[in-house]
Amino acid sequence: MNAIDIHIHMQPREMMSPGALAFIESGRPDSEIVKRCLDSPKALAEHLDKERISKVGVINYVAPDIMGFTSGVNQWAAEYRAGAPDRIIAFGGVHPPACKNVKDEMRVIFEDCQLDALKIHPPHQDMPANAYADGSMPELATVYEMCQEYSKPVLIHTGTSTFPGARSKWGNPMEIDDIAIDFPDLKIIMAHGGRPLWINEAWFVFRRHKNVYWDLSSIPPKRILEWYPRLFELGNKVIFGTDWPSPGVPGIRKNLDAILSLPISQEDKDNLSYKSAQGVFDD
Ligand SMILES: [Zn+2]
Repeated sequence: MNAIDIHIHMQPREMMSPGALAFIESGRPDSEIVKRCLDSPKALAEHLDKERISKVGVINYVAPDIMGFTSGVNQWAAEYRAGAPDRIIAFGGVHPPACKNVKDEMRVIFEDCQLDALKIHPPHQDMPANAYADGSMPELATVYEMCQEYSKPVLIHTGTSTFPGARSKWGNPMEIDDIAIDFPDLKIIMAHGGRPLWINEAWFVFRRHKNVYWDLSSIPPKRILEWYPRLFELGNKVIFGTDWPSPGVPGIRKNLDAILSLPISQEDKDNLSYKSAQGVFDD
C-alpha cells in the first residue's frame, strides 16, 4: 500500500462558521464516516486502511472572517496528528492580519507544534498570495521566508471557491509566479491547477518554476488530460490529492482509481501516487 493523498480536510468543526459547516456536510452519502474521522484520527486511520491509502496531508489554515478558523487550528492539527502520526502529514496556517507577531506565530507552527507544512488559502483569507509584493501585507514575505528557513513546503490554493463569502478573484495562480521568484528555495505545492478559470496560468507557473509542485486535488479526473494535456511532461512533480470530503469528491480511493485508469505511464502513476509527495517531504 503506497499511496499518499496530499490534500484532505480534517478541521475543527467547532470553529467553522455555520454557513461553511452546512456547505460541507450537506448531502454527503459518507457523512457519518466524515464525522467520525473529524472526531478521531484513529477512525481516519481505519478509514484509510479500507481505502488502501498509506498517508494523507491533513489541511488546516487560518481564515477567521470567512471560515471561522483561528490560529487555534495549529494546536488542533498537532494533536490530531498525534493520534495517527505515521499516517498524517499535518498542515497549519497563518493569517497575518489576525496575528500580533508573525514570526512568533511561525515559530509556534514549526517549533512548538512541529507541523509539517503550511497552507495559504487566498480566496478564504481574502488576500492575494503575493500580497507582500505591492507592500500591502509585508508580513506575508516573513511567512514565506520562514517556511524557506525551516525547509517546510507551503501549499497554496488556486482556482475558484464556492464557499459562502469566498473571494474567488484571489485564485489566480499567476500570483505564485512572484513567490517562486522571490523565494527560490521555497517548495510550493500549487493546489487545484487554477481550475476552472486559470488553467493556462497554472500550467505556465508549474512549468516555469522547478520548485512549484502540482496537487491534483479537486480537478475532476476525467478533465486532467483534457485541461492539461502536457501535465505529465513534468510527472515527477505531480502529486495525488482529493480535497475529500469537500463537495463533489466521492472518496479518496475512487478518485485515485479514476486517475490511475488514465492513459499515462506506470512511472507517472508511481510518481503521482507517492513518489512526488515523498520527494517534497523527504529531503
Ligand atoms: Zn482543499
